[in-house]
Formats: sequence, structure tokens, C-alpha cells
Amino acid sequence: MSDPRTTARLVQPFPSGEIGIVWEDGHESIWPGSALRRACACARCQDEVTGRRLLRPSDVPDAVRALEIVPVGRYGIAIRWSDLHDTGIYPFQRLRALCPCGCAGKEASR
Ligand SMILES: [Zn+2]
Ligand SMILES: [Zn+2]
Repeated sequence: MSDPRTTARLVQPFPSGEIGIVWEDGHESIWPGSALRRACACARCQDEVTGRRLLRPSDVPDAVRALEIVPVGRYGIAIRWSDLHDTGIYPFQRLRALCPCGCAGKEASR
């Protein structure tokens, strides 16, 4: 059984550079591309052992856009960015936790 809150019904990159997800529970999340790019948790952006951030927010241009979004099974998405970074995988569970409206924090019942 998949959790409707962390199951994506639709993943949509906008020409403006924003990335939107409509979730199975009907909720919508929209991030500026730069927000998701800065949250990348790949081995080049975050130390795998300590979790220390290697990527500084200033390393990412504000205008960064998703060039391509590739599904990774039902688990998440991989994003190829206009700054040529393409090693990050974004699990849906993490994306929902990153929702800019803060809904993940309000549903702290997990
Ligand atoms: Zn990365
Ligand atoms: Zn939300």
C-alpha cells in the first residue's frame, strides 16, 4: 500500500522554472527550481556519512531550471538541471517533506 501523501499523480515542470507535483491526496506542491536544486542530497551536494552540506546555496543560480525529469520507479524522480547537475534523486517522501507550504510539519503523525 502506498501512502497517497507521498505518491505523485502528476509531476510538472513549468516554463518559468518551477516544478509542481500533484499528490494522490489532492495536495499540490510547487517549488522554484532553485529550491529543489539547493536541496539536492546526492554525494556531490551532501556528505553521505555526516550529512554535512557540501553545496552552498550561492553555488546555485536562482534561475536554475529542470531540463528533464526522469521517473525513478514509483520511488521518486531524477532531475537534470540547467546548471548541468544530474546526479540527484529526489524520493517522493522527501519531496513531500520539502513542500513549501509546510504541510509535512502539520501532519507530524507519522
Ligand atoms: Zn547533487
Ligand atoms: Zn504542502
